[in-house]
Amino acid sequence: MKTKTFLIIAIISFWSLSLHAQLYTIVIKGGHVIDPKNNLDEVMDVAIKDKKIALVAKNIDVRQAVQVVQASGLYVTPGLVDIHTHNFIGTKPDHQYANSFLAVAPDGFTFRNGVTTVVDAGSSGWRNFPVFKSQTIDHSETRVLAFLNIVGEGMRGGYEQNQNDMDPKMSALMARRYKDVIVGFKLAHYEGHDWTPTDRVVEAGRQAGDLPVMIDFGASIPPLPLEELFMKHLRPGDIYTHCFGQLNGREYIVDLETGHVKPFVLEARKRGIIFDVGYGGISFTFSQAIPAAKEGFFPNSISTDIHVGSMNNAMKDMLTTMSKFMAIGMDLRSVIQASTSNPAKEIRREDLGNLSPGSEADIAILNIRKGDFGLFDYTGYNIKIDKKLECELTLRAGKVVYDLNGIANPLPQAKNSK
Ligand SMILES: [Zn+2]
Repeated sequence: MKTKTFLIIAIISFWSLSLHAQLYTIVIKGGHVIDPKNNLDEVMDVAIKDKKIALVAKNIDVRQAVQVVQASGLYVTPGLVDIHTHNFIGTKPDHQYANSFLAVAPDGFTFRNGVTTVVDAGSSGWRNFPVFKSQTIDHSETRVLAFLNIVGEGMRGGYEQNQNDMDPKMSALMARRYKDVIVGFKLAHYEGHDWTPTDRVVEAGRQAGDLPVMIDFGASIPPLPLEELFMKHLRPGDIYTHCFGQLNGREYIVDLETGHVKPFVLEARKRGIIFDVGYGGISFTFSQAIPAAKEGFFPNSISTDIHVGSMNNAMKDMLTTMSKFMAIGMDLRSVIQASTSNPAKEIRREDLGNLSPGSEADIAILNIRKGDFGLFDYTGYNIKIDKKLECELTLRAGKVVYDLNGIANPLPQAKNSK
């Protein structure tokens, strides 16, 4: 009798185990989930089935998963969305970020930073976008989207001054053709005292079905007034990148004499103008960011403007940039929001930057590392801090693509290696 009961229990257990094993491909166990879009900020488990998020809940049984990630003491967030990058790698000499050496291959720098989506910010224009797509976008595991430069040749150095190559109609046509990956338009580096390029890029946005534009506001002397840009030329939802820059040839958002954010900047934000970091080589200064932070003026989105120059100088990477905003008083949840759901909304891709069941399973698992660190800007301003963000593990489309300390079980398999 005893043997029979044992046998029945054994059979039922085996049956339920094998049934459970079918349920999820991955369960992330015991992490502190921060998912601003869904208002989650507590310890929860996350279950993934194939490419999608299946469930976010307390106490999901790990026996239901093929692979388990132990995330106790770590933060589990949506995969980070960096909307200002330069990824049009290539071999053309003297082409700056357009098909040349100063751009960086996405997968080499994204996953180790929790980034799963990048938006290339105008490295290509309508003439060379198909080359960018076939060389970079189609071969990257990172989701690579693009702001199309209003200049047909993209960021090909001096060509960016050529108004004759700023064609709203051709730009809009290219965006309609590749609407899955082109999310808006970019104007950058224009040095003339002239509104024509600004108006052309906004016109491209209109013609493409009301896509947003991202503005790197050039370097004209005397500078064009920012108030006129925000209130007269841009539309609500358009993005002002490099918002904490302090360069000759462009107006700053913080008045250096009074130490306050200029009143029209606050009005512009109310009007719907988006303030994006776009850190870059020399486009972020603490002398702008700290006074703004003191008044509670934080960026809508945090982005790196990563290229060979910026990543080897003060900027470094997405998590260092996010850590800088924590260091000047932005709370962790707001920093995560400005790096996930906010940028996703800005590029009208609200399917990204969240952990909603049914969303593609792009996830970052982050650690707050304690120690003695320094965070400096290119002017030499250096802040000493005792904590910074570090990426422990990254999932892209339901697959572990980076695991710093081997917290996935089983461990991710090597690929493309011999
Ligand atoms: Zn840039």
